[in-house]
Amino acid sequence: MRCPFCREDNDRVVDSRAGDEGATIRRRRECLHCKRRFTTYERIEENPLRVVKKDGRRVPYEREKLRRGIEKACWNLAISAEQIDQVVASVESEAFEQFDREVPSNFLGELIMREMRKLHHVAYIRFASVYKEFKDVSEFMDVLEEFLKGRAPTAAELVKHVQNQPPRADPPKKPGNGGLKNGP
Ligand SMILES: [Zn+2]
Repeated sequence: MRCPFCREDNDRVVDSRAGDEGATIRRRRECLHCKRRFTTYERIEENPLRVVKKDGRRVPYEREKLRRGIEKACWNLAISAEQIDQVVASVESEAFEQFDREVPSNFLGELIMREMRKLHHVAYIRFASVYKEFKDVSEFMDVLEEFLKGRAPTAAELVKHVQNQPPRADPPKKPGNGGLKNGP
């Protein structure tokens, strides 16, 4: 540490003690140049990670909050706690790798969406429906379509998709067979 009196950067610690129930360490130092003593405090950096909301507000990053959102989307599905932990861990590490200490909330959201998509399609749709705050059904369908484009849908999904289509007003005519009548 640089001495506050003579500005030399050469000292020795003469005493260290914990304060605030271990949250801080107070060190008494002696400058080896001018022999004067000074004190430094060492503490854990509090809430170093922040999330930047749409309106620009900064809020502390809360792992539990993120986890709860994912758990809610995974409710009642065959998804283990370890799988949820993995989603949280990869979202977190990637977010704070790309953005040093302040992560835009929508970037977090997109990362979660991507991980949920890999995890479980129902959980993904549930999360997407909350995250995107759908204003109407067409918005929801955009996400659903995007999802369906991403991988081959299962037969059950295709059936559901077809069932949701409105009936066609004008069904295609059967090809003619030369005027011969078949059956009754
Ligand atoms: Zn000094």
